[in-house]
Amino acid sequence: MATLSRSHKIRLTPTPEQEEYFRRAAGVRRFVYNWGLQTWQEQYAQYKAGQRNKAPTANSLKKDFNAIRHQQFPFTEEVTKCVIEGAFDDLGKAFSHFFLKRAKYPKWKKKQKSRDSFYLSNDKFDFGDHWVQVPKLGDFVVGQRELHGEPITKRGNRKKALGKVNLSENFRYVTEHTPTEQEKPRHTRKYILSPHVKILGATIGREADWWFISIQVELELDFSPVTGSAVGIDLGFIRLATLSDGKEFENQKPLRHLLQQQRFLNKQLARREKGSKNWHKTKLKVARLHYRITCIREDSLHKISYELAETYGFMGMEDLNGAGMMRNHKRALSAVDASLGKLARYIQTKATRHGTIVQRVGRFFPSTKMCHKCGHLWHDITEKDRVYVCQNPECRWSGDRDWNAAITILIEALRLAWLSERISDEFTVSAVAGTGLDGDAKLSLWRQRKTG
Ligand SMILES: [Zn+2]
Repeated sequence: MATLSRSHKIRLTPTPEQEEYFRRAAGVRRFVYNWGLQTWQEQYAQYKAGQRNKAPTANSLKKDFNAIRHQQFPFTEEVTKCVIEGAFDDLGKAFSHFFLKRAKYPKWKKKQKSRDSFYLSNDKFDFGDHWVQVPKLGDFVVGQRELHGEPITKRGNRKKALGKVNLSENFRYVTEHTPTEQEKPRHTRKYILSPHVKILGATIGREADWWFISIQVELELDFSPVTGSAVGIDLGFIRLATLSDGKEFENQKPLRHLLQQQRFLNKQLARREKGSKNWHKTKLKVARLHYRITCIREDSLHKISYELAETYGFMGMEDLNGAGMMRNHKRALSAVDASLGKLARYIQTKATRHGTIVQRVGRFFPSTKMCHKCGHLWHDITEKDRVYVCQNPECRWSGDRDWNAAITILIEALRLAWLSERISDEFTVSAVAGTGLDGDAKLSLWRQRKTG
């Protein structure tokens, strides 16, 4: 059994009244976060000056807030209290990241700049066929209608019905409930959570002027280890992935047309008067196109990683950690960088699920410079050299540079996995032989180094 965290993001189609609730909840979340940040600063200054015994924490601030909430901020009561809990959790996280020097000092949440979103805790929402029940939403909508003088009958039922938000697809981890004979017909439309799934919480947020719910779950999985062949993967900027067995995955091919459109829209946006009606229109178009591009990219990354995890039993891969890449000042973190890191992560998660071994190769391993045949290093190889030519006069092997890198990565990964006893001698010998080298010779060489 292994536990995995996953999330499922679904687009919501709220009614205008429900959207108003979302906007207010996001507003409350911003307000509470900023209140917490300001109070934290005040209390911390008092603590430093010796006027308080303890430094403030997210929890103590939440208590302070809840004590005055009813009196001073009654508007925060029209939305679910999850919003407030979520805001203090976020503030707590922001401060702990700051203290661990992982992030800058927490900033104010501004209406225009920060993303509209709020949190729902795990026990506060319910699912059915294409709907999710959002806490307090029904009360809010009914309240608004009464405010406008609409008479409400059967309040309980109305609240329940109006609190359901339509989902554009069903939540992945629920199944239709089969009612027992004793149960009434209304139970036929009930949905229950799949076994081995635990809901951790959810976030509702706005993106490209659409609303989404992202539900975090924890899965318990049984996996049977697959026995597949070994492969080395070279991740790159020109070609997304090159495999040691010759397979290739191109980068951004399906996106070419959309990327052109994106450039066009960006130019158009620059020409518009900032803040004007047309500027807002174009801005929304840009945001929606951006969202589409992200979806297509994500989709192809998921497909590639799925195929890899399904096909192979052992994968050798470079260690591309995001933080390390960002520290490289020569290259700003582009969308391609981000998708490479993502691909590496997706491969890892899917491989874990399938029981495939993933062996990372250190970031400083010279996979591109090394000849896979003789191990000679070509130090002067540049980005432009698409063909690897071995500089060793006795070898002179030449071929596709990324394919060469994929093989050197595979050999190094096999060595590391063999050293840490993750794979057997037989597997290692046959996998090395698959690269065209003498597996027995390699293994005896590694053995000499290990003992000597
Ligand atoms: Zn060579």
